[in-house]
Parts: sequence; structure tokens; C-alpha cells
Amino acid sequence: MSRGPGETLRLIRSGEATTRGELLAATGLSRVTVGKRLDLLLGSGIIREAGTGSATGGRRATTFVFDPAVVVLAAALDAVGGCVAVVSPHGEVIARHDIDTDVSQGPEVTLAIIGAGLTALMDEAGITVDSVAALAVSLPGPTDPVAHRLNDPPIMPGWDAWPVLDSLREILDVPGYVENDADAMAYGEASTEPDPTHPLVFVKTSAFLGAGLIIQGRIFRGLDGGAGDIGHVHVGGEAECRCGRAGCLAAEASGAALVSRLEHQGRGLTHIREIHDMIDRGDATAAAELRRAGELIGVVLATVVGVVNPAVIVVGGAMASPELVAAIRSSVYAGTLPRATRHLEIRSSRLGEDAALVGLARVAIDDLYSVESVNERLGTDE
Ligand SMILES: [Zn+2]
Repeated sequence: MSRGPGETLRLIRSGEATTRGELLAATGLSRVTVGKRLDLLLGSGIIREAGTGSATGGRRATTFVFDPAVVVLAAALDAVGGCVAVVSPHGEVIARHDIDTDVSQGPEVTLAIIGAGLTALMDEAGITVDSVAALAVSLPGPTDPVAHRLNDPPIMPGWDAWPVLDSLREILDVPGYVENDADAMAYGEASTEPDPTHPLVFVKTSAFLGAGLIIQGRIFRGLDGGAGDIGHVHVGGEAECRCGRAGCLAAEASGAALVSRLEHQGRGLTHIREIHDMIDRGDATAAAELRRAGELIGVVLATVVGVVNPAVIVVGGAMASPELVAAIRSSVYAGTLPRATRHLEIRSSRLGEDAALVGLARVAIDDLYSVESVNERLGTDE
């Protein structure tokens, strides 16, 4: 078992033991040692006393809660556009702003826009530099989990292997985190589940398609960050994909593909989110195209369900709507055995545009307050 105040904090954060008595029982440690660890955590402002908990022997015991006075700065980028935000350690978005970016402009221009956006937001929200615990960014490309660099991103020229973390440190010298956007959204969405450790698949349906996988409560990135890259699974068809091949799911069913297919049918739209208004106005062609896209996405997800056996599939991004979720659901059901879907929930995103921001804050906080990180900062006592 990991020792030191980090382990004490883990018990408090998970809710396994939140009073002195519960911590004594859970760890088997002496009252003196538990007291020393609590003092370290209290003294560093990582936990605070939060009134009284359950009655023990007629006396109500003081409970401890994880509540450091820090914030995470987060930036969630889409291929075009994005937002910056100040997020609390509990995943509440305190302040946010949209930013005008286009990742095809390259890393230098894009990261400068993020820096300017965050500086303006901090000023506005009254956030001081010394309260910022971390800076986390999500990007629409495969992110190498070790190097924290993008790994041959198909829609992001100039970003391959760009040292994003070094660039973030130039913005603000705090720990930095880089995640794939669908991974960050999946991790945010998992925090809204009754059991965040259940396997979850998040599908980002936007100009491009991607998926994030949560397995055993953690982001599953694969060997080099490519896990969940469902957009280039071959589904047939003639349309050419941005990757240069034909028949990719993204070429047939992404937001960009839908815009182009609707243009060919005389429907002009500047952004895929406009498709929902068209459908609301009774445009049967737009409705049929969204349904077709959902069915194709569902065909690929049926395979994912067969491999991962998730508890929930969350559909998010600009294309997401009850109609899209319904089309995905019927296609997943048609492509799998009842056993695989008996306990499967397929739903819309609960966090919407905040999903990536919440996920990014979770990634940063989980790392900064892990057992190992806390023991390293506060020292072990044995
Ligand atoms: Zn492709």
C-alpha cells in the first residue's frame, strides 16, 4: 500500500474515509500518524474541515474534504473555434470565453491565441497567477500519451510532434497537460456517471469524428494515442477523406461530409450545427442525411461495443441531437447481440460544450493530487 499523506488524501477524495475515526480504521495506522498526515494536508490547504459527519458513540466527528484553493486553466480546441475557461478543482466551470481559432493556422498562431484568451479571462474573473495549479489543452488530433505531442494529426498541418507543453509553459509556468479532444470529453462526461469507473465511450460528432474511451476509470489512449480514432474506419463509399483515402467513416458521416452532401442537394449551410434548425423547419432531406450519418456511425460503434462492452455511449459535438442518438442506437442494436446491449445506455452528452473543459480539469487535478504527487510534495512520514 502507498504510504504517506497521499494515501490519506486518496481515502478522503474517494469518500472511503472522511473522518479521523474512519481513517484510523481504514489504514490501521496510529492516531499520531493519522494526525500528522491530516496536519500536513490541512497545512498545505489541500483539505479543510467541513463540519460534522456521522455520529460515532454519541459524538459527531469532523469530516475532511478535498478543497484546494486553486483553479485549472483549460483550453478546448475544435478544428475551427474553441474556448478557454477557468475550472475549479471539482470540475465547475467558473468562467469561459469562446476563442476564434483555426488549428490549420499552425501551433504558433493557435497557441498565441490561447495565451491571449486565457490572460483576458483571468483578468476578467479576477484570477491571480499563483492560484493557477495547471494549464490543460485539448486538441482535435491523436495525442501521444508519453511525449504529450500530437502524433501525425490528419487535419493539423505543422502540429506533428510540436512541443505543445513547452509552448504552454511560455504562456504560464505551471504543470501542463495535452489531451485529445474526444478523450477529454469522455473523461469529463464520465464524472457525471453514477459510477465513473464503468467503461464509457464518448463519440464526438462534429466537423470531424472521433471517440474517447474510459476504461477502469481512466482514459484509454492506446499505444501512441490513436485509440478511439474511429473516423478512418472503412465503411465503403466513394467520398474522399481528408486522410487521402476513400470510404472512411469521416468521409461519409462527419459534419464536414454532411455539409458537403447537403450542398450537393442545394442546401447551403456554413456550419454543421445549422442542420438542426433545418430539420426543425421540416427539411426532410437534412433529416434523412443526419439519420444516415447516425446509422453509419452506429455500424462502427457496434464493433466498439463488441470489443469494449461499455456501460454507456455518450454522443456529443455539434451534430448531436435526439434524432442522431436514436439513429445511432438503432444501428448499434441491429449490429450487436442483445446480450451486449442489455445494460448499455446510449445518450446525449450531459455537459455539452463544457465536457472537454471538465475532463481537462479532472486530468490535471487527478495527476497533481495523486498519491505519488502528494507524497512527493509533502514527504512521506515512514
Ligand atoms: Zn480517412
